[in-house]
Amino acid sequence: MHDQALQGEALRFDNSYARLSEALFQRQSPHPVRAPELLRLNRPLAETLGLDPDACSYAEWAEVFAGNRLLPGMEPLAMAYAGHQFGNFVPQLGDGRALLLGEVIGRDGQRRDLQLKGSGRTPFSRGGDGRAALGPVLREYIVSEAMHALGVPSTRALAAVRTGESVMRDRILPGGIVTRVARSHIRVGTFEYFAARRDQDSVRLLADHVIQRHYPDAVEGDNAYLELLRAVARAQAELVAQWLGVGFIHGVMNTDNVSLAGETIDYGPCAFLDAYHPDTVFSSIDQHGRYAFGNQPRIAQWNLARFAECLLPLIDGDEERAIARATEALEANADVLDVAWMGVMRAKLGLQQAEEGDKALVQDLLALMRDQAADYTLAFRGLAEAVGADGPEQAPALLEGFPEPQALTDWLLVWQRRLHAEAQPQASVQATMRARNPRYIPRNHRVEQAIAAAVDDGDLVPFHRLVDVVCDPYTERSAAEYCATPPADHERVTQTFCGT
Ligand code: AMP
Ligand code: MG
Repeated sequence: MHDQALQGEALRFDNSYARLSEALFQRQSPHPVRAPELLRLNRPLAETLGLDPDACSYAEWAEVFAGNRLLPGMEPLAMAYAGHQFGNFVPQLGDGRALLLGEVIGRDGQRRDLQLKGSGRTPFSRGGDGRAALGPVLREYIVSEAMHALGVPSTRALAAVRTGESVMRDRILPGGIVTRVARSHIRVGTFEYFAARRDQDSVRLLADHVIQRHYPDAVEGDNAYLELLRAVARAQAELVAQWLGVGFIHGVMNTDNVSLAGETIDYGPCAFLDAYHPDTVFSSIDQHGRYAFGNQPRIAQWNLARFAECLLPLIDGDEERAIARATEALEANADVLDVAWMGVMRAKLGLQQAEEGDKALVQDLLALMRDQAADYTLAFRGLAEAVGADGPEQAPALLEGFPEPQALTDWLLVWQRRLHAEAQPQASVQATMRARNPRYIPRNHRVEQAIAAAVDDGDLVPFHRLVDVVCDPYTERSAAEYCATPPADHERVTQTFCGT
């Protein structure tokens, strides 16, 4: 063993959360697993963090990323949090199967949390076993890395481990552990935990920590906590706008799954749209469509209102005044979200300047897509090929996304006129559009196939292949084309299940 690497000299830990207050967490060591096997190590991410992937063998890394061996500087703890789950407040959730190992200052100077998910029971486990099944571990790896490659803020996956142990779910399944990397793991639910207990000291401590760590500019304004609310709201708005742009459905937008750093977090029953319809729901536990694709902006605002409630006493000693100020900030954020969304959609259409009719242009296109059940990804990618075409018949690529491209004739005219007014060279518009509209997303049926191969047959090849594809989503290449096509009828995934 190359002890230098495992002595942690390469990793610079600075555990600011562990120093904040013992009220915020429970110290807990990972429970070792029997036969850890490293399935994948994210080499570029490891290097960013300051780890040399070749400093030791996969067997040695497996010990680290299974929690069997702690590196110097790691101070494992389970974070306390609460949350509104499907609208109902649960005063205690917390890291029931996860542990924060510490914060690493990377080679880029950035501070990031290192967390094990699936590392065994903690004081927050309630009835759970504290473990994760391999399938959800692989799904989180694939989808979070895809999101990152798509330019959507997201937690990352540093490693996936098979534990060599079984977990009991609806059947016996192989166990897994994912090492998650995040700007932080502080959630709206973290604030709710202390606010519900009227522990104002902890709420203030957390708020100051989040300001210092993620939104240092908030102290410039006349009311730092109101500025914090605005900044968190803006980050959520920009995040959800990006989800809508790539067709992502989070699936469980509970307040415990809302990161204050503005990253996508907790990949449970998440999925990407194939055919476009705003009412699309995949999660088997979302029976009323609360977290449907098109409902995500509204839910983001609802979640932010729960965050605002925690901050009220900090915003103003006078409750009515605090409510008025917070309400105003959140109402303004609805517009922020709208503007962010229009920015995303405009870029997808190759447009650079904002114009009066842009929203109608986008909405008309989406209506056409909905009516035709157009494939969301292929439809936009096809449009890039239609730049400069006089009509749908001159843009055969549109056929990939739209079953009836003829129906687009009028819309294409309006869009072409709009592009024409910007007077950008056709080739550069197309290049920009190809850089904004991915060819490859982690399509649900491909994700399920990769998971099934790993879980049922121990075959990791489809998993590795899929990660490689989705980490380079914009470059067309024949080896990746199997991910471009929507599912055949027999491949269609209609439900996805929770990460447990
Ligand atoms: P999630 O589904 O990841 O949003 O988790 C919701 C809550 O359930 C969190 O408090 C988790 O820590 C807890 N939880 C989920 N799975 C398990 C498990 N296998 N053992 C213990 N706690 C769990
Ligand atoms: Mg969660």
